[in-house]
Amino acid sequence: MTGIKGLLMNSELYEYILETSVFPRESEALRQLRNATADHPWSVMSTAPDEGQLMALLLRLINAKKTIEIGVFTGYSLLVTALSIPDDGKITAIDIDRQAYEVGLPMIRKAGVEHKIEFVESPALPVLQKLLEEPGNEGCFDFAYVDADKVNYLSYHESLLKLVRLGGVIVYDNTLWGGTVAVDDESLVVERLRPGRVRTIEFNKFIAADARVQIAHVSAGDGVTFCLRIA
Ligand code: SAM
Ligand code: CA
Repeated sequence: MTGIKGLLMNSELYEYILETSVFPRESEALRQLRNATADHPWSVMSTAPDEGQLMALLLRLINAKKTIEIGVFTGYSLLVTALSIPDDGKITAIDIDRQAYEVGLPMIRKAGVEHKIEFVESPALPVLQKLLEEPGNEGCFDFAYVDADKVNYLSYHESLLKLVRLGGVIVYDNTLWGGTVAVDDESLVVERLRPGRVRTIEFNKFIAADARVQIAHVSAGDGVTFCLRIA
């Protein structure tokens, strides 16, 4: 058993998806990175492999070359991205924790994709602001993946809508927040999930009404929202 990761309330079915469609096609480097992450005390934070498979498909569909990643951790989603973009593609990968990134770095190196990654150890907001101040960056990214502090998702959204091109895609992770977004009575939600629940509910409401993006709110992983920039 891989352990339930995601909201599908049937572990056998989830295992079926992983064993049938995901793991047989997962690259050796990704498998090794996933295994190396399993011992980390926060291994649960890693992007689910089925979500990674969906991301890889999307990156190929839109021919993504320049991307931004907010929230790297040990680098599962980062390696998915690095393996999906062309050899001269570039990922600006931002995280406050370089130590976690270094857990996955040997596998990233082994996969021969480190040259596509610029890792920035910093809170993400000032990095996005700096990117926007530099000439030529507006509208020049094809894709962004946001998987970090939920309190800033709305601020990330405003900056990313300037950095990502029309027809580009922004993906937000954990937008069902363990299913708590649909629980009306907050006292039924464990305390550590409450602040994130409130911010995620706010974020989901905002995105659903945002005419600048076409969206799909998908129940893979912990909930993923895909935003295609249309204005
Ligand atoms: N996408 C990663 C993966 O596939 O393994 C998982 C990311 S994990 C859920 C969230 C990460 O966001 C953590 O590594 C944490 O250090 C980082 N983080 C938290 N607050 C941040 C901030 N303000 N700016 C940048 N990174 C932040
Ligand atoms: Ca996540």
